[in-house]
Amino acid sequence: MAASINGVGGVGFGGLTCSTKTALPSSRSSSFRVQMSVPVEDKKRNYTLQKSQEAFNAALNLMPGGVNSPVRAFKSVGGQPIFMDSVKGSHMWDIDGNEYIDYVGSWGPAIIGHADDEVLEALAETMKKGTSFGSPCLLESVLAEMVISAVPSIEMVRFVNSGTEACMGVLRLARTFTGREKIIKFEGCYHGHADPFLVKAGSGVATLGLPDSPGVPKATTSGTLTAPYNDIAAVESLFNSNKGEIAAIILEPAVGNSGFITPKPDFLEAIHHLTKENGALLIFDEVMTGFRLSYGGAQEYFGITPDLTTLGKVIGGGLPVGAYGGGREIMEMVAPAGPMYQAGTLSGNPLAMTAGIQTLKRLKAPGTYEYLDRITGELVQGILNAGKKTGHAICGGHIRGFTKECCVKVFTLLLHN
Ligand code: PMP
Repeated sequence: MAASINGVGGVGFGGLTCSTKTALPSSRSSSFRVQMSVPVEDKKRNYTLQKSQEAFNAALNLMPGGVNSPVRAFKSVGGQPIFMDSVKGSHMWDIDGNEYIDYVGSWGPAIIGHADDEVLEALAETMKKGTSFGSPCLLESVLAEMVISAVPSIEMVRFVNSGTEACMGVLRLARTFTGREKIIKFEGCYHGHADPFLVKAGSGVATLGLPDSPGVPKATTSGTLTAPYNDIAAVESLFNSNKGEIAAIILEPAVGNSGFITPKPDFLEAIHHLTKENGALLIFDEVMTGFRLSYGGAQEYFGITPDLTTLGKVIGGGLPVGAYGGGREIMEMVAPAGPMYQAGTLSGNPLAMTAGIQTLKRLKAPGTYEYLDRITGELVQGILNAGKKTGHAICGGHIRGFTKECCVKVFTLLLHN
């Protein structure tokens, strides 16, 4: 059977702290000790998932598919979801008492490891003052300043509660600013579950904009044109056949949602040029790559500055946060500064801002991205070696801490062996 490191949808490696010794620079997680005292053989003997199985059977009656997000259902990797009880650093414990090494990192946010002491301490302090004000708080400006100084394209930022929300907002903004409706997205890129982005990849879709999911009206996707990733000629042809109508190109600057795909050397530059030439905006969806490829995201790593950027995952440090940002002139179109409406009851709440601030502080420490590069490289290479040794057709790669979440596959592998 062929095994692929590019197996399931999602993000890169997150659980960085295998032990106190390998924690990110400046970590104070010294109180954490991984309990490795039980011999492996005993662990295997005692291994049971009975409580998880019972919990999942009960959950099936309560929530669709027993989960609140489809990737947690284990459908693409087999088996049943495991119900976790607690996490710390790179380790997780399930409700049956089994211990795991986590390679998923909450699908991206846990880049400095789970339940980091500094993040938890800061959250506890913030929580004493309340969890949501419905009024501005200083922490919003602190995180905004950090994001603006880190990400080259961002002069102003709007915080929201998820990556999906960020992509919805940025699309409306691009349409507002340009006065155009059509967008180009790439096959295999994921930009959250909002209607206009749920367009099936494949020929015909480029012209028909057929929705990917039932319940998405054709009208909401008819302005979504698609092209194969890394295919500049296809993008050129879309611009030629839709002259003056395309508001923006949106893409993952390195793809993590359909395998691990890197942009060809001239690809980002070429689409940047095409957008400029055609009066369209370039949007980097950095929900996954932001603060992961480098502190300034993929745009800093590749040296291409888009007009607009979306962020999520890492900037919330494990709490729900998304953001979109860009040049001042464009961002001032957003209400209440400008006419484009977008709002959120819990947007910028103090808890989410605190977790984001502490996480970014840790990431900013010297050596972080070199460390991520080294450990991710070792892990990916180890998986590739093991796969090849056992005769599997396997491929994979990484940029710094960014790769494909082969993790769930690895996770289940560890679990079943
Ligand atoms: N954009 C990208 C590139 C993503 O990877 C994701 C989530 N994996 C999203 C947007 C949507 O983010 P969320 O799940 O927070 O809505």
